[in-house]
Amino acid sequence: MSTEKLYEADAYLGEFTASVEKCVSEAGIFKVALNQTAFYPEGGGQPADCGTLGNTRVLDVQEIDGTIWHTVTGPLEPGTKVVGKLDFQRRFSNMQNHTGEHIVSGLVAREYGYHNVGFHMGSEAVTVDFDGILTKEQLYELELQANDAVLQNAPVIASYPSREELETMEYRSKKEIEGQVRLVTVEGYDCCACCGTHVASTGEIRLIKLLGVQKYKGGVRVSMLCGERAFRDYQVKHENIVGTAQLLSVKPEEAGDAVVRLKQKNIELKKELKQLKKAAGPRG
Ligand SMILES: [Zn+2]
Repeated sequence: MSTEKLYEADAYLGEFTASVEKCVSEAGIFKVALNQTAFYPEGGGQPADCGTLGNTRVLDVQEIDGTIWHTVTGPLEPGTKVVGKLDFQRRFSNMQNHTGEHIVSGLVAREYGYHNVGFHMGSEAVTVDFDGILTKEQLYELELQANDAVLQNAPVIASYPSREELETMEYRSKKEIEGQVRLVTVEGYDCCACCGTHVASTGEIRLIKLLGVQKYKGGVRVSMLCGERAFRDYQVKHENIVGTAQLLSVKPEEAGDAVVRLKQKNIELKKELKQLKKAAGPRG
């Protein structure tokens, strides 16, 4: 039995009705299969959706051999109809971050010829691994180009080309795909085989922030955030640096140097204290 994937046709579908096909119980948790679903199962670096199914909470979603299994908090009766509601704020954030990743990977492929060899949307940041070296300066340049793509408000379109059509097309793909390939095109920036959920046009990403780059497995790992997650990250870091600067009575952009001086002073004081203790001799 294969589940109809409503999220592939419409990533903005936050509520749907489906019929319960199966419900199995395993050690107090319940796994439910539906005829169709808008819940995205974990895969391709994108986490599973959360939300509710009837009066149960959806804790996890996994695809096994074409069937999408929803891990829920209570039993659902096979043969009945059920309403599914996604935590759409979370899903939309995933769509922004996932589409941002396509833009950055497309730019890295075009500018440097490196492949995206790993992608993970973690709770802290999104990480993308490339099989080549990027410097901090190149990262700054990529960030500007990526945000230019946001400004262009370019359409993001999913298509299902035939095998013959595919042979004439250039697209990014991590592996050989059996069966129908789903291509996701960010017009002017990227074309990639992907089954995830994306925004309809790049303006919806709002902001692409590349946070850092570090050496990883012979290439690099780039960490990044998009949309609200990027704004929130900026807020937290800004508050932090302004607060630190106030404590040190310097301007925010001088906080780093002030901390270096403070650490140096601390080392000197410790040395001085040690000498004083030694000069005072043993107590008692
Ligand atoms: Zn994708």
